[in-house]
Amino acid sequence: MHNKTIAELISGLEAGEFSSVELTQSYLDRISSLDQHLNSFITVTSERALEQAQQADAQRAAGQAGLLNGIPLAQKDIFCTKDVKTSCGSRMLDPFISPYNATVIEKFNASGAVMLGKTNMDEFAMGSSNETSWYCPVKNPWALKAVPGGSSGGSAAAVAARLAPAATGTDTGGSIRQPASFCGVTGLKPTYGRVSRYGMIAFASSLDQAGPMTRTAEDAALLLNVMAGLDLRDSTSVDKDVPDYTGSLNNELDGLKIGLPKEYFSEGLDDAVAKVIEDAIKEYEKMGAVVSEISLPNSKLAVPTYYIIAPSECSSNLSRMDGVRFGHRCENPRDLNDLYIRSRGEGFGPEVKRRILVGTYALSEGFYDAYYVKAQKTRRLISNDFNNAFENVDVIMGPAAPSPAFNIGELMDDPITMYLSDIYTIAVNLAGLPGMSIPAGFVNNRPVGLQLIGRHFDEAKLLNIAHKFQKVTDWHTQGPGQFV
Ligand code: GLN
Repeated sequence: MHNKTIAELISGLEAGEFSSVELTQSYLDRISSLDQHLNSFITVTSERALEQAQQADAQRAAGQAGLLNGIPLAQKDIFCTKDVKTSCGSRMLDPFISPYNATVIEKFNASGAVMLGKTNMDEFAMGSSNETSWYCPVKNPWALKAVPGGSSGGSAAAVAARLAPAATGTDTGGSIRQPASFCGVTGLKPTYGRVSRYGMIAFASSLDQAGPMTRTAEDAALLLNVMAGLDLRDSTSVDKDVPDYTGSLNNELDGLKIGLPKEYFSEGLDDAVAKVIEDAIKEYEKMGAVVSEISLPNSKLAVPTYYIIAPSECSSNLSRMDGVRFGHRCENPRDLNDLYIRSRGEGFGPEVKRRILVGTYALSEGFYDAYYVKAQKTRRLISNDFNNAFENVDVIMGPAAPSPAFNIGELMDDPITMYLSDIYTIAVNLAGLPGMSIPAGFVNNRPVGLQLIGRHFDEAKLLNIAHKFQKVTDWHTQGPGQFV
């Protein structure tokens, strides 16, 4: 059962081949026997999952099955879940029980989906390797000494190891696409505003976006059908019709114009990864796509721009974690200052502290214009590069990450190199565009993802382009030996 896609599981449930309770139990069994090797879950909600599954079975019997009726899913621990711990990977929030559900969680509940548990992640989604989690690193199911990527590494590892048929992730600078690439799963970061951020703990509010992490593009379409749409509780969510994302999966790609940014195929890209990406592009040429070189001249500004904007926004967003309004409170504070200082000092890990310091500095009087305002200007330049490119091409392709998964510990003392692992994904968030990573091959037995970048709200086209590739290749069907 665990090798079936969601589309197959839906057919199986419809045909009565198995019930949601049986399906859910089989995933819970896998989590309990296998997750000890991976650490991909922070919380497993077995009892609740079985209750939800029972309800789903009853709804189906009554002819009231929603779109994902009875399908078990894993949720990144950044989404507030009523009555279930939401930690965001941090000691700061360790015992936090949200009084309400994030909109994404509500939507999945309404569709009849079952929550298996909450997945591990980098602390407050800051990281590229899952090593900043207070709950210890997640391991990559393809190579246990390698990182799964981050920050949605728990979700990516769980899906790759078939501990859940799909999971949610969030992507501020690459946190869906980079772990999808490292773990060989399909990850979609939608257009900014496509999916509600209500109840999703904010890292950098102008960049954060939630999306599906699945084994196939078809499954990503099934999840996005449920996740997307206007939410009046999120003022940045966009009032735009949600198409049926499965409707155009099989459109022909004849004449599709693919742009390859020369900046994405230059220095810094691992040669073997480049070869995997070039081979993937040849598959598209065989399907009738036309490939041309393009330029995104301001690409080199993306990482520095992001590392001003994201820390600035996070320093503001995390100010509410002060031991009074939210978060860990230190023992026996002497006075209010001591309470703030020790609560935050104890609650946050080193990477989060580094970001808060950088962000507070960039926003401070005297430096605001030199850093924050300037970063907003370079953000505009980066965005304009994409607008110009999309006048001539329909989709931009390239690697999702410059290398396959690195080893645990390898980059922990080198934050700058770690930051560069998002070099191809970050600009997409700065421009608010949709992006995907799909499995395209292996280097030294570690997966490599092909990145697809589309115009605003072109998720349906990206899913179509990804699905067609998955019809003619089998990278996405392969699983890590020990777990399949
Ligand atoms: N790795 C990037 C960072 O550390 C992106 C994280 C994310 O997308 N949440 O900020």
